[in-house]
Amino acid sequence: MNDDTPLSRRQAVGGTGLGLAVAATSSAARAQSEPTAQPMTDPTSRYPKPPFQKQSQPWPGLASRMTPRPDHGETSYRGSGRLAGRKALITGGDSGMGRAAAIAYAREGADVAINYLPEEEADAGEVIALIKAEGRLGVALPGDLRDEAFCTRLVADAVRALGGLDILVNNAARQQTRASILDVTSEDFDATMKTNIYAPFWLIKAALPHLKPGASIIGTTSVQAYDPSAELYDYAQTKAATMNYVKSLAKQLGPKGIRVNGVAPGPIWTPLQVSGGATMESLEKFGGQTPLGRPGQPAELASIYVQLAAADASYSTGQIYGAAGGSGQP
Ligand code: NAD
Ligand code: MG
Repeated sequence: MNDDTPLSRRQAVGGTGLGLAVAATSSAARAQSEPTAQPMTDPTSRYPKPPFQKQSQPWPGLASRMTPRPDHGETSYRGSGRLAGRKALITGGDSGMGRAAAIAYAREGADVAINYLPEEEADAGEVIALIKAEGRLGVALPGDLRDEAFCTRLVADAVRALGGLDILVNNAARQQTRASILDVTSEDFDATMKTNIYAPFWLIKAALPHLKPGASIIGTTSVQAYDPSAELYDYAQTKAATMNYVKSLAKQLGPKGIRVNGVAPGPIWTPLQVSGGATMESLEKFGGQTPLGRPGQPAELASIYVQLAAADASYSTGQIYGAAGGSGQP
C-alpha cells in the first residue's frame, strides 16, 4: 500500500481524533454545498416547445426581438470562480451561444471582450452591462470578421484592453438556408467561408503569440458537421471544417500546453435561425424532432464553454462536446 497520499485510508479510519476531524470537515463541506444544489428539472418541459410563432428578422437579427426571447442564463447562471482572473475574447458574443458563454465566463470571474456586427449594438450593450454587473471588465469590439485586417486588429485590441489573452472562443458564424445549390451565389459562398473558416484562421494566428500554456481555444461547430442538411450546403461544410481544425490544431498546440476543443450544438433558439438560417416551415417546428421535443436554449450550453476553458479540463483537447437534445453527433 502506498502511504504517500496526504491522508491514507488507514489514518482516516484508524486515528480516532483525525477520523472525527475528517468526518466534521466532510459534513461541513456537504452543508456548504447543499444550499447551492440546483433543483431537479424535467428537460422536456424546462423551456418552450414548438409550435413557434412565425417570425423573421433581417440578418444578423437581434435576440431582443425574438419571441419567445432566448435564455442566455441572464438570471440563472451561477459561477464558482472557475475562471477567476482569465481574459477571454468571444466572437458573436452579443447573442446566442456566445452571449451565454460571455455571461457565464464573467460569473466565473473572467474579464471578457466580445465581438459582434455594428447592427447588433443593442444586444451587445445588454451583454456588456451584465459582464460589468459582475465587477469584471467588459469590452465591446464591434466589426466585420470577413476582413483579415479587422481580425488582426480585434485580437490586438482585446489583448490591450484585457491586459492579455487566455481564452479565444471562435463562435461567430453565417448560416443562410438555400433550397438548391443553384441558389447559392458566389457572394453567399464567399461570405460563409470568410466568416466561418477564414476568420477563425486569422484570429488564431493573431492570438497565438499571446497564448501561454494553460490557454484554451474553443470553436463552435455543429451537428451539421456530421449529418448535414440538404439546404445548408455551404454552412454545413464550414462546420465540418471547424470540427476538423479543432482536431488538427489540438495536435499541433498540445506540446505547447494550449488546448483546442469544439462545441457541437443541435437546434438552439438563437437569432441565427430567425434571420435566414432556417425556413419559416422548419422554424415553426424547430427542435420538435429531437427526443427532448424542443430546441435548446443558449443557457443550456454555457457550462460546456466554461468546462472546456477551465483548468480542471486539462486533459481534454481535440474533443467535440455535443448538446443536441438527444439526436445528432458527436
Ligand atoms: P447568433 O446569431 O446569436 O450568433 C452568431 C453571431 O455571429 C452573431 O451574433 C454575429 O455577431 C456573428 N457574426 C456573423 N457574421 C459576422 C461577421 N461577418 N462579423 C462579425 N460577427 C459576425 O446565433 P448562434 O446560433 O448562437 O450562433 C453561434 C454559433 O453556434 C455559430 O457558430 C453557429 O454556427 C453555431 N450553431 C448554432 C446552432 C443553432 O441551432 N442556433 C446549431 C449549431 C451550431
Ligand atoms: Mg447576434
